[in-house]
Amino acid sequence: MNRSLLIPLILGIIIIFHVIRLTIRSSTHHFSCSECGENFQVSFFNYTFTAHSLDGKCSVKCPKCGKTNMLKPLKGKK
Ligand SMILES: [Zn+2]
Repeated sequence: MNRSLLIPLILGIIIIFHVIRLTIRSSTHHFSCSECGENFQVSFFNYTFTAHSLDGKCSVKCPKCGKTNMLKPLKGKK
């Protein structure tokens, strides 16, 4: 195989696995709003393009009160 193709190929595989992992996470986890207590799920798109902290928290916006907070994903659907 051409060596110059190897690095883009490996990067592509890593990105695909990351997207699959986020897709599964966004459909199997929910968030609980720290302001109003609303439980909600976010779409894969919102989940992927939001800010993530190192301890796994995501910056998500509550659909009920509109507050954006760093919330930890909780297991299970809402
Ligand atoms: Zn809320």
